[in-house]
Amino acid sequence: MAYVITEPCIGTKDTSCADVCPVDCIHPAPGEENADTATMLYIDPSECIDCDACVEACPVDATMAEDDVPAQWEAFKEINRAYFEQGHEAGEKMVQEFLSSRG
Ligand code: SF4
Ligand code: SF4
Repeated sequence: MAYVITEPCIGTKDTSCADVCPVDCIHPAPGEENADTATMLYIDPSECIDCDACVEACPVDATMAEDDVPAQWEAFKEINRAYFEQGHEAGEKMVQEFLSSRG
């Protein structure tokens, strides 16, 4: 399993989760490439150790265990994974597609 960042991060992106993650698997963190332009932050599922620290840290409850992701945010499981497997542009494109799909 891994943790996932979901829709409430969009437009919030305060980066508290990246500050507390013990394995630095949340990106782009402040100062990293694409940090200023990213729509949201993403959790690398291959690095996450399911410690739950990001859940406490997030002011808008955007982070959650994969098994707890509600149906309307199901796409974010793949979005978080794709961001690391396919790159920044691909992940960001999927976020835009999610937003447009909701009209
Ligand atoms: S659950 Fe822990 S390891 Fe996984 S993203 Fe959150 S803070 Fe990082
Ligand atoms: S703490 Fe929440 S809103 Fe802030 S960057 Fe992390 S997931 Fe997004």
